[in-house]
Amino acid sequence: GIKARLDAISAIINYKPSHAPLNFSETKPTEVFGCNVFSDKVMRDRLPKDVYKSLKKTIELGQKLDPSIADAVANAMKDWAIERGATHFTHVFYPLTGLTAEKHDAFLVPDGKGGAVAEFSGKMLIQGEPDASSFPSGGLRTTFEARGYTAWDVTSPAYILENPNGTFLCIPTAFVSWTGEALDKKTPLLRSNQALNKQAQRVLKLFGTATRLPVVSFAGPEQEYFLIDRNFVFARPDLLIAGRTLFGAKSAKGQEFEDQYFGVIPRRVLAFMMEVERELYKLGVPVKTRHNEVAPSQFEIAPIFETGNLATDHNQMVMTVLRTVAKRYGLMCLLHEKPFAGINGSGKHLNYSIGNAELGSLYDPGDTPHENAQFLVFCAAAIRAVHKFGALLRATVATPSNDHRLGANEAPPAIMSVYLGEQLTDVFEQIKKGKAESSKQKGVMNIGVDTLPPLPMDPGDRNRTSPFAFTGNRFEFRAVGSCQSISGSQVALNTMMAESLDYVASKLEAATSGDAGKLNAAVQTVIQEIIKEHDAVVFNGDGYCEDWHKEAEKRGLPNMKTTPDALPTLTSPEVIKLFTTYGVFSEAELKSREEIYLEQYVKTLQTEAALVVRMAKTIIFPAAMRYQGELAKTCAELKAIGHDYKMVTLEDVTAKLRELQVKIADLEKILEHTAPDTLAEAKHMCCTVLPAMNEVRAVADALEAVVADDLWPLPSYQEMLFIR
Ligand code: ADP
Ligand code: MG
Repeated sequence: GIKARLDAISAIINYKPSHAPLNFSETKPTEVFGCNVFSDKVMRDRLPKDVYKSLKKTIELGQKLDPSIADAVANAMKDWAIERGATHFTHVFYPLTGLTAEKHDAFLVPDGKGGAVAEFSGKMLIQGEPDASSFPSGGLRTTFEARGYTAWDVTSPAYILENPNGTFLCIPTAFVSWTGEALDKKTPLLRSNQALNKQAQRVLKLFGTATRLPVVSFAGPEQEYFLIDRNFVFARPDLLIAGRTLFGAKSAKGQEFEDQYFGVIPRRVLAFMMEVERELYKLGVPVKTRHNEVAPSQFEIAPIFETGNLATDHNQMVMTVLRTVAKRYGLMCLLHEKPFAGINGSGKHLNYSIGNAELGSLYDPGDTPHENAQFLVFCAAAIRAVHKFGALLRATVATPSNDHRLGANEAPPAIMSVYLGEQLTDVFEQIKKGKAESSKQKGVMNIGVDTLPPLPMDPGDRNRTSPFAFTGNRFEFRAVGSCQSISGSQVALNTMMAESLDYVASKLEAATSGDAGKLNAAVQTVIQEIIKEHDAVVFNGDGYCEDWHKEAEKRGLPNMKTTPDALPTLTSPEVIKLFTTYGVFSEAELKSREEIYLEQYVKTLQTEAALVVRMAKTIIFPAAMRYQGELAKTCAELKAIGHDYKMVTLEDVTAKLRELQVKIADLEKILEHTAPDTLAEAKHMCCTVLPAMNEVRAVADALEAVVADDLWPLPSYQEMLFIR
């Protein structure tokens, strides 16, 4: 009750840091970086030369791992980990819950003579067998054969998680069923990189661009989050259980002043950020940028981009470290997309490109005419991909929490369009018309190919309302939710790109039939065709604007507003064909994903609805009734001394209390409904339950605005967002 709320405030007032701020002059960030990673340097130092060379080949070139080296690697890893205080090892994996999962095994084994030795074999490194029955599989495994196995992902380095309560060796792994179906977020990402590489190499070959390394995706995720004092969370069951406020009247001050973005970082928060960064440095996560975000108590952390697979694992670590370090500072890190109604939510901008260490980004226009032409091909392929498979891309960001954000005039709309910028749009327009005007403008790159116009350099997106914006050497996909894995969107993008590059390569191969002299003309033709067919997806205007929704409809772009609208796309014939053709998902794997994500949607809303009922009945109703009692008492007393008094506030509170009861009863009734299948259930949750929850909330929030503050038990928006 009110005591918890007051305790929370006094705990904050009396907050003292549990330890002194980190001293960075003693240990420099550069010294700390990667110290807990079984890195290239550690491997070179500790592995026999031939073992190191063989492993390196697997890591860099994606060649198959030679199982005969596993014992040597495992042994070196074990010694290194034990020296650093590790007692256990764990195969870390990424189930479809979107979380990180780990099961620990001790190095220790009895030696048969009453003592014990440390053991870690190649077999234990390469493969683990967690009991998979409690992870969602969407029907891929029946419970009696509920075994999955984890397989070492050599391309993501092992590391040590060091903490005061125990230190252990972590081995990133893929999680698959015994029949080979992907039960996780990593396996499809690795598969999609293979598909992408195969098709990208065909295009590169036509351009005579040689590379030893495979083409993969690169990702740089900008992570947004809220921090609030932990004590408030204990007084708010909604934040504790659902990660968002299900009640709460708007604060008198919100973000209207626009005084928060890039503002001075509060000191406690700064100390927290320093420790987060230190922890992440140790794990080799190259975090670079930090700043205040638009909403009060909202912040952002961004690393330097890395290969997609590594960046995905690292982003999971970022989320874990944010959560755990926050606790040490008496804070709670909220990764939910919309913890507070009425102020901005949190997203995760996924900066995405494809390429490799030798080539850089293939979305980089480059300096030479040759690079320019190649860039235009990759860029056109991306445009085609988003136009063809925008619905799929939308489905990869469909979650119950992200629904509160997408299309809410603070995040890109649910319509997938591509921002190119004026000048690049102009280039494609000219190609479309078949004209090749040469421009003498400054800063214009000359493509040098007669049939192509010069390529200007004006990258960047100033209005920031586009979900998929070209930003100079990459695309920024802005619809990903803040608590989501960045795997799903990359899997889709990689596979969509593979399909487009396959199309382009086939066209170019046919048109040139081995004659490089015909390439320029062929490139011109294929880009022209693509733009003619697909430029409906290009939109450089304001994505928040209502007109765009109408215009997008005219252009035939899908606008799937909610998760139940979007998820069935995962099993549409086009999407099944796409993923099966390139060996990324089987039809069964797609069906299981659709089912699991729909289930997650339903369960999330069921939990939230139950919380709404519980909180309204046991916290809000009693508080308002106490106030009603006080008012009634006053009223009676006034009457007793002769006032003929009709108290407006009493009438108001009484009416609202009655309305609250009615709305709660409505919601409870609605929750009794049963649906024939998960999709129908999800739709019911979306279209009927959610609005009913909001109606309960509306009355409760109106009560918060009239009930005496000293009787209101829930920490207010004002307190949570402005006391730190
Ligand atoms: P902004 O806030 O202006 O979007 P940030 O600096 O916060 O920019 O984040 C940009 C992100 O994009 C960083 O993680 C950066 O490393 C990443 N990035 C830069 N170049 C590429 C690239 N070629 N591919 C993928 N990500 C990239
Ligand atoms: Mg940013």
